[in-house]
Amino acid sequence: MQDKILIVEDNKTLAKLIAKKIQHALEMEVDVAYTLAEAKLFLAGNNYFITLLDINLPDAPNGEVVEYALSKKNHVIVLSANIDKDFRKKMLQKNIIDYVNKGGTGDINYIIQSIDRLRKNQKHKVLVVDDSLVFRKQMQNMLKNLFFEVITVAHGEEALGMLQAKPDISLVLTDYNMPVMNGLNLTYEIRQTYSKDELCILALSGNEDSEISALFLKHGANDYIKKPFSKEEFSCRVNNSIEALENIQTIMNYANRDYLTGLYNRRYFYSTMNEYLEEIKESGEKFAVAMIDIDHFKNINDSYGHDIGDRVIVTLSDILRSSTSPRDVVSRFGGEEFCIVLKNINRYSAEDILERIHAEVANYSLAIDKERIINFTISIGAVLYQDGETLDDAINEADMLLYKAKNGGRNKLIFSAN
Ligand code: GH3
Ligand code: MG
Ligand code: MG
Repeated sequence: MQDKILIVEDNKTLAKLIAKKIQHALEMEVDVAYTLAEAKLFLAGNNYFITLLDINLPDAPNGEVVEYALSKKNHVIVLSANIDKDFRKKMLQKNIIDYVNKGGTGDINYIIQSIDRLRKNQKHKVLVVDDSLVFRKQMQNMLKNLFFEVITVAHGEEALGMLQAKPDISLVLTDYNMPVMNGLNLTYEIRQTYSKDELCILALSGNEDSEISALFLKHGANDYIKKPFSKEEFSCRVNNSIEALENIQTIMNYANRDYLTGLYNRRYFYSTMNEYLEEIKESGEKFAVAMIDIDHFKNINDSYGHDIGDRVIVTLSDILRSSTSPRDVVSRFGGEEFCIVLKNINRYSAEDILERIHAEVANYSLAIDKERIINFTISIGAVLYQDGETLDDAINEADMLLYKAKNGGRNKLIFSAN
């Protein structure tokens, strides 16, 4: 990821102020040029995430710097004190990201928020569903300019297939009129599987019928854009939807995850496991439950302090996360006790994974400073879930085996025989 910003602005005080605020708020490197000639030198030697360009420079009074930066494939936000409507419109027709006023504190905050948004957009995949190739290309360009990863398909059926193949898509942009499956049916189908907490849907249509927009919203679309639309409206609505999704996910993380390790907490463990049990009722899929506890953890706290104890807990969490698949459930039940569920697995594979975790922990050396390292061990009790048991039965049995491992000398894995 390129993390540098170029500001081209002949008002030196303003340029320095914007640069300072960006460095402070976003921790990004900033170069400042005061003329087109200087800007050309910077652009030749660097790769910028965003260029912020004043359209009125001593050696380029009519936005020449914008043309130049675009010709070199840069991402451009235009800075302007010019509120002339026609000029603004002309600028927005170019492949720029945004056209913003400069000078006021509010304006600088807007610029900072925009850059932050664009940086976060890089983590999001957007699926464009439209039967018109021209329109697909146009949206793809606009979305790429906003730093999204873009996937395009031509109709609803194809979109559903793509969502299965890439379940981490954040936003679906769908047209209304399409062959095979229209946008409304697609929206309905997507909402059977993905809630608004997981995925946003933005519908676009040129349909004059005002009922269509209401129907889209009722079927679960987050927002609706009427064609034709301005690039600014498009960007704002897309960014707003993504931001809402991120906010929901942040709140859910606070509620579902443990603060120290980022692992699921006990409450979420039970709620997600109940859903999972419901889901596998018919297929009879097998899974393994393992209770894991750090050995003599109190000694680590007593010898090295609570902060180092925390680092040991985080180290173990990282090992558990990296040794399991994203579908598995890794949770911190409390203190130095963890519970993990390995999904869709047989006894031998489960034992193999747990043995590897056990060995990796035993072989791991945590460097706490230049001289000292800590080694620690874990005990594990594990079972393969048996048909007809409750989740608590399985957890209790795993817990019993964990105690057996502790009493048998610790640093052991005991897997239930049946
Ligand atoms: P055993 O081998 O039998 O598991 O012994 P142990 O010392 O690991 O277990 P014990 O339950 O006696 O002590 C656990 C300690 O973990 C006590 C508690 O103060 C400490 N602890 C609990 N939560 C945290 C935490 O979040 N951070 C740190 N650093 N310590 C914690
Ligand atoms: Mg169409
Ligand atoms: Mg312990």
